[in-house]
Amino acid sequence: MSKIIAKAAIRGAHSLYKKAEESLHKALELKGKDAEVTYPDTAYYLPIMLFLLGQRVVKVGDLVESLAEAKKLLGPIPSDDLWLPYLGDTLNAGIATLISEEIIESLKYVIGPNPVEGIWLGFTSDNILRMQGIKLVDGRMPGFAAIAGCTKTNEEAVKLIRGLQERSILVFMAGNSSGRAIAEQLAEENIEMNWDNFLVPYGKDITAAIHALNFAARSAMTFGGIEPGDLKAARQILLYNKDRVYAFVMALGTDTNVPDPEQLIIDEKYATAAGAINFGFPVISDVTIPQILPTGICTYEHVISGIKMDEIISRAIELRGLTIKLEKIPIPVPYGAGFEGERVRKENMYVQFGGKYTDGFELLRMKAIDEVEDGKIDVIGPEIDDMKQGEAYPLGIVVEVAGRDFQEDFESVLERRIHEFISCANGIFHMGQRSIIWVRISKDAREKGFKVKDFGEILLAKIHDEFSKIVDRVQVKIYTDETKLKELLDHAKNIYSHRDDKIGNMTDEDVDTFYSCTLCQSYAPDHVCIVTPQRLGLCGAYTWLDCKASYQINKHGPNEPVEKGECIDPVKGQWRNINEYVEVKSNGNLKIFNAYSIMEDPMTSCGCFECIAAIVPEANGIMIVDRDFTGMTPIGMKFSTLAGQVGGGMQTPGFTGIGKLYISSPKFISAEGGQKRIVWMPKQLKDEIKERLMKQLEKAGLSDLFDKIATEENAEEPDALVEYLQSVDHPALKMDPLF
Ligand code: SF4
Ligand code: ZN
Repeated sequence: MSKIIAKAAIRGAHSLYKKAEESLHKALELKGKDAEVTYPDTAYYLPIMLFLLGQRVVKVGDLVESLAEAKKLLGPIPSDDLWLPYLGDTLNAGIATLISEEIIESLKYVIGPNPVEGIWLGFTSDNILRMQGIKLVDGRMPGFAAIAGCTKTNEEAVKLIRGLQERSILVFMAGNSSGRAIAEQLAEENIEMNWDNFLVPYGKDITAAIHALNFAARSAMTFGGIEPGDLKAARQILLYNKDRVYAFVMALGTDTNVPDPEQLIIDEKYATAAGAINFGFPVISDVTIPQILPTGICTYEHVISGIKMDEIISRAIELRGLTIKLEKIPIPVPYGAGFEGERVRKENMYVQFGGKYTDGFELLRMKAIDEVEDGKIDVIGPEIDDMKQGEAYPLGIVVEVAGRDFQEDFESVLERRIHEFISCANGIFHMGQRSIIWVRISKDAREKGFKVKDFGEILLAKIHDEFSKIVDRVQVKIYTDETKLKELLDHAKNIYSHRDDKIGNMTDEDVDTFYSCTLCQSYAPDHVCIVTPQRLGLCGAYTWLDCKASYQINKHGPNEPVEKGECIDPVKGQWRNINEYVEVKSNGNLKIFNAYSIMEDPMTSCGCFECIAAIVPEANGIMIVDRDFTGMTPIGMKFSTLAGQVGGGMQTPGFTGIGKLYISSPKFISAEGGQKRIVWMPKQLKDEIKERLMKQLEKAGLSDLFDKIATEENAEEPDALVEYLQSVDHPALKMDPLF
């Protein structure tokens, strides 16, 4: 192993240790040892200390112990002639670096400077981790790149980032090279950076790289269900990352002021790289720094360097073994999941469709095989060349598919994907579905030659690509002509409501077969979702129909049909075959599963639940909180804290992760009395599901219940909640005791 790296890394660890010590002294002096130190919205304290040291840091004073642990790992700086043949000391220096960096970055939240400033985002909350986590789970994101430094030109920076976005690789950015950071280069080029675009600028100091690593560590604790606390767990978490999280570090550009002219980048970057190598994340660089090539235990290189910029992405992918599906769609703009959440602001917009401006709809229909001419796209009405900049036009997209194994039920499954398919084009904004769509084409996309017809190109390519097992032919008709569109809109609305009735009326008793989903097992190995017509997957993304279609498309995929078999308990929702299936699929961890109970053997939760339902003992009812709500709930825990207790694929009686749609289901915790038990929900969630919930309440003869459900405006803690419930005479208070 290279002497330079070992020396630089150990020296860097020493220097970061000193900086951490200084920050800590300053914090102790200014705020005192009892001052609180936390990252915003996380249940994992300071994640690095929690997982490496088993330490639950809450006060500034606690960091004294963390720092002491870092010190133990710091060996002396090797002298010039000492040869270090093993990585050991360097890796220890890496761990000391992680602890020091976590101290420095967490104390910024106590004594400043504010880490969330301008383009910089600072620490990632647990909510975002969960939301993005599902993308890592289901493969939408193949992995992440942590970039430190900058490229020579802005043009190179944009090219690199677009290349990563097109491959759907999540990008974290931290640190700088000679005072310049890639995120600043992107900002100068007006590139939007946020989680939706897969571009996350953490901070300009190299220490901000710790946020990428504490993100990785929390993934293991959240999805892997690894309970932190001791050395064994720390090792497990590092191994989890090495085996399951496909990440790499890109160290770009050279630094001035390096102690050794051969060394090219500063000591602290080497130290941080050593920290990343502990996670199994290799480092790739455009600079000719010394390499660390495979050693006995590792099958791949730790550091490879001197890579040309136009090869760096493909080399990194090779090095870390990411599975990348590059989309080949014949449109003039880049395409990939990294562009899915991109917005097109009014000033960048060329034209728009739908929203509150015009009519718009999307409809996917099954046709007979001879009624569909595969690959045909018709634009009925004006094309983009006939449109005026800044104007709004109507838009109706009708997709017609034919296939021997296609069933009418699958129409809505495919139709729902139109949003995602279109959103992934760079410079196109798409929101909503059915008759509430809103679409924008940016000036940039227009300049590159994007046309209305290209919506059709995208849909043809994506539907063929993803649904080839059930779809043989696709054609697309795009209406921008107002009169034609109006004629079709009513027809479309009739179809939507017909579908809703059909699916809405389907009950668990109507079918013999439920579906499983084990997609999340890549992260939560013991978790199984059992998806029934009346209870969708807890992530909210998979209904029974989705699973059915998915099984049809891929018989060896994550969704399998499970015949219910003998019913053991119709009230709790327990069947013999389902129990047996769940036991096998959970690696023996789950023996009994009740579909409709929260108190007894409820469904397990992986980590990507839309909402959590939890009992409020004082109120004899349950509250529901969704992940967008960051305030306090009446059980004294925020969503993030609660989620930490519910996730990881374990059964937790009294708590369960659920999808939003399940709240209005007739089977919603029916074993405990159903919706009558709901005593609290965040206001926004309540508004969002109002229409559906009201319908169900009316059916259940509980029309007046909706207004009795408290929100944060009525109560934030149990006593006030009970008082409120009494004042409105909430039925839960008079129901059988939950215990
Ligand atoms: Fe994960 Fe369940 Fe959603 Fe499948 S249905 S993706 S297992 S949460
Ligand atoms: Zn999940």
